Amino acid sequence: MSVKQVAILGSTGSIGVNTLDVIRSHPDRFKVVALTAAKQVDLLAEQCAEFKPAIAVVADADGAARLSKVLLEKRINTQVLYGPQALVSAVTESNCDTVMAAIVGAAGLVPALAAAKAGKRVLLANKEALVMSGDLFMQAMKMGGGELLPIDSEHNAIFQCLPSQFSKAPNPGLGVEELWLTASGGPFRKTPLDQLAGITPEQACAHPNWVMGRKISVDSATMMNKGLEVIEAFWLFGLPLEKIKVLIHPQSVVHSMVRYRDGSVLAQLGQPDMRTPIAYGLAWPERIEAGVAPLSLTQLANLSFTDPELERFPCLSLAFAAAKTGGTAPAVLNAANEIAVAAFLDDGLPYLQIPRVVESVLNAISSVNADSLELILDVDARARQAAQDVVKEILCRH
Ligand code: NAD
Ligand code: MG
Repeated sequence: MSVKQVAILGSTGSIGVNTLDVIRSHPDRFKVVALTAAKQVDLLAEQCAEFKPAIAVVADADGAARLSKVLLEKRINTQVLYGPQALVSAVTESNCDTVMAAIVGAAGLVPALAAAKAGKRVLLANKEALVMSGDLFMQAMKMGGGELLPIDSEHNAIFQCLPSQFSKAPNPGLGVEELWLTASGGPFRKTPLDQLAGITPEQACAHPNWVMGRKISVDSATMMNKGLEVIEAFWLFGLPLEKIKVLIHPQSVVHSMVRYRDGSVLAQLGQPDMRTPIAYGLAWPERIEAGVAPLSLTQLANLSFTDPELERFPCLSLAFAAAKTGGTAPAVLNAANEIAVAAFLDDGLPYLQIPRVVESVLNAISSVNADSLELILDVDARARQAAQDVVKEILCRH
């Protein structure tokens, strides 16, 4: 068995830490060759001391100086780089064959694209990359010739439930009719609508079933996360939007399903623990121990499924609308949402204003064909600026 050489983009985040946890128990299968983080230098230093990658990347010169000092003291021979371009170097210059793309948000797009172009096995957690540039990203994967393994639990579930030939040629003879993405409904699934106005970041980040980074936790509360995932599924699996459905399933045990022409529905079940999809992606097509407790169906009281209430989750409708518009609309949706969520988490933007910001920016910036990275990055920057302006205006009024 050859040892896989793994680069982890975003190693200090929730997905990054879980990835290292799986890798830790399989030293015979995986070697970590590059680790990256934005600001969490202390944790990155610990990770470097344990996994001894060839390259470590942080956001800025200050962080790089701090990391280099600690690594020197510990006599760890890791090359320290910094800045956005260094994230690409972590992929292209580390001799990796496998890249875990787990940076949150648009910041992960360029290094994820570099991994796609370079023909790596890409384990894609960074759904925003696909939302922004689905067409370019899928083309880059095709041209690079590497394997794309979805890590998002729903897409990983669907990948497991699809016939193996599907990813190469999704032909109608395979009988795939619909993809059913499950969603927990987040912490406010049953909160009376008139109480949503006062939701705090702490409440929004307290997800009932999953422990995740702050941005995706807020996205789960608003269900923007599921909207982004519909767009992600559209690009990953190449089915028309109307064949991608969302179901509320509060227990988070069925991670998603595929409905076939002959009446069969295949589902993937498991604990709500990201180490399962991470282990699947790392070892595919083999299956390895992931450190996840076995699922006990007899201990579950029930599994329930309902349609989402769209008036409770306006972000979901906005995402469907942007997906339908296509072109650069999903990139605008994503950028405006990133700004609105950051303003909610850090600057006191009221929770119910998150969809207002997104809607207002989507209305202000018309969609064009998303046919180059430069254009997408330009639209992303314009949408961020527009969202900042709307946020500022709202905060002045409150
Ligand atoms: P997180 O906030 O816990 O971690 C993000 C990582 O990205 C950190 O290592 C951080 O240092 C790095 N990072 C952040 N901004 C950066 C920047 N500007 N430049 C370089 N690095 C930067 O997030 P997470 O929950 O691990 O999520 C990561 C991605 O995986 C997201 O796209 C999320 O939607 C997706 N995802 C997460 C989960 C989950 O369970 N956490 C599940 C499915 C999908
Ligand atoms: Mg998900």
